[in-house]
Amino acid sequence: MEIQRNPTRSVSIGTVTIGAQHPIAVQSMTATRTRDVDATVRQVEQLSAAGADIIRIAVDSRADAEALAEIRRRTSANLAVDLQENYRLAESVAPHVDKIRYNPGHLYHHEREKPWQDKVRYLVDVACRFDCALRVGVNCGSVDPAKREKFAADDALTPMLESACDHCDLLEELGFTRYCVSLKDSDPAKVVDVNRRFAAARPDVPLHLGVTEAGLPPDGIVKTRVALEQLIGRGIGDTIRVSLTVPNDQKQLELEVGRQILADIQAGRMLNAVPQAARPLNIIACPSCSRVENEAFVELAQRVKTITQYAKDHAITIAVMGCRVNGPGETDDADLGLWCGPHTVNLKRGSHTLGSWSYEEILGQLRIELDRLIADRQTR
Ligand code: SF4
Repeated sequence: MEIQRNPTRSVSIGTVTIGAQHPIAVQSMTATRTRDVDATVRQVEQLSAAGADIIRIAVDSRADAEALAEIRRRTSANLAVDLQENYRLAESVAPHVDKIRYNPGHLYHHEREKPWQDKVRYLVDVACRFDCALRVGVNCGSVDPAKREKFAADDALTPMLESACDHCDLLEELGFTRYCVSLKDSDPAKVVDVNRRFAAARPDVPLHLGVTEAGLPPDGIVKTRVALEQLIGRGIGDTIRVSLTVPNDQKQLELEVGRQILADIQAGRMLNAVPQAARPLNIIACPSCSRVENEAFVELAQRVKTITQYAKDHAITIAVMGCRVNGPGETDDADLGLWCGPHTVNLKRGSHTLGSWSYEEILGQLRIELDRLIADRQTR
């Protein structure tokens, strides 16, 4: 199938170039603790061998930044760093990576009195000094609060879109064009909508596509495929990541699935996937990253899916997140949300936190709350 790609500009990231008419690059991310250099290098090599064009590593602390320097010495893969909330680490990590991802909604966590524009200026300066590309990574669970306040509570996408466009404008005012943008949501329909709107507004800016927290296979694969088919089929998208909740030794699945989806789109083999993706019971799960404090997280997500199947015909969203930092925010839109600490799992219903339970007890508690939710809806 001949796909007319959007005329985006080209952006080099290590040995890979995205945008323009370059092949769509496939990415993945390590989920090992970054400080565990041996395990992280092993995973980078595993992902590289599976065909990753770019591999992202999260850095949270000075110790992670130091580990990244050693990881860089031990691999030639194209590396991107995820700054999470700590944009001030950029200078320490930039010498060791090819791209820096920052989240506009996370620039508020440190130095609150400093305008975000000054923080972006600093990031641009670092990127120029160390020959890095940037990604403006906008995420539904952590949108710039000033943008959220500006729009109606039920309008999730315009704040994301405006945030991305403002950052593009500033980067260009600063003379920096070596960047791409991502706009991710856990709902494939929203991913399609917001990326189509962005591509219409900024057809020149390369887009990194993905469905965040797509979750466990096979549903996570279907959700991602639904979004990518509709976007890439329209010429939108220059690089992709398939985010799947899988154990560390199966992370290469993200690459295999990504390449298969691209090959299928190219060959015109589209799935009739929309009805499957629209299942009433929706389990969202993060793909895990270096912030996971208990590796039982992935197994917990799998067990949540299994024990909630009795409610499969109810339109309920359950979100399972791997860490205490992003878990509370990323579960905000779910009916029931769980996020994992080292020894306990927190549970909330809507925005109300119910408490925390051990990994053994949490499933029983989840079932109680799920039954309550179903009963409440039936008596309404
Ligand atoms: S929710 Fe936490 S563990 Fe999961 S991907 Fe996001 S930062 Fe990583």
